[in-house]
Amino acid sequence: MATPHPKTSLGVSSLGITFEQVEKRFGAFVALRRVSLAIAPGECVALLGPNGSGKTTLLKMAALLTRPTSGRVTFTGDAAAHAATDRLALKHQIGLVGHNILAYDELTAKENLEFFARLYDLESPAKRAAEALDAVGLALRAEYLVRTFSRGMRQRLAIARALLPSPSLLLLDEPAAGLDRQGVAWLSQTLERLRSEGRTIVMSTHARNESLDIFTRAVAIANGRVERDTGAGGNPRPLFEELRAEA
Ligand code: ATP
Repeated sequence: MATPHPKTSLGVSSLGITFEQVEKRFGAFVALRRVSLAIAPGECVALLGPNGSGKTTLLKMAALLTRPTSGRVTFTGDAAAHAATDRLALKHQIGLVGHNILAYDELTAKENLEFFARLYDLESPAKRAAEALDAVGLALRAEYLVRTFSRGMRQRLAIARALLPSPSLLLLDEPAAGLDRQGVAWLSQTLERLRSEGRTIVMSTHARNESLDIFTRAVAIANGRVERDTGAGGNPRPLFEELRAEA
């Protein structure tokens, strides 16, 4: 089992996230119910749960894309030092790989990333784009139009986009969906590297085909509630096996 990295390395700042009694309502519908969860910097957490249980809503909240109806979301670690006063700086420390790939088909991979690097107001957009493409194994496809990309290549590009600002907290919403075995193996290696650099990772997964060795913790959500949590320093493996047996 992997162990959390309490200290950072390679210039990555530490960033953790805490949900306190968080509720999210959409009209009369309650998507999250009194969720309390403290994720420390360097943890690598698998969010498990059936369709519609609230995983995406929780990840969007962590990415500051949606606010809780009640309760609080706060951040811990070095990167959170100015969180209250500088929301944009905090946002740059958080990368989200969501269901939507968010890339322009008629631009090349490199042009897409340079565009997003400019949008995020990052220094040296061309250099950032090249580094991010290299990190996801797309350097040789840099000049190809995204419209020619396969599902797996698009997924790599989505991860490259999320990595552009070198975020301390990386949130991934079922990133293995649609990947073949090779793609899943690549994803596991990439996440392992990102984790070893000291980044905090929270990823929703159905835990079917990807390697689960990188996770230091598993949290099972059902009907908007945290049903099980193997905790920081616990062993997530028995919960994975239980859920796999039920599937
Ligand atoms: P999946 O595994 O299918 O991706 P999930 O666990 O990520 O599911 P969420 O996408 O977080 O689930 O959705 C939780 C619940 O909240 C669902 O019932 C969904 O329909 C509802 N929901 C999410 N966003 C909205 C919205 N903008 N308006 C209304 N209901 C919403």
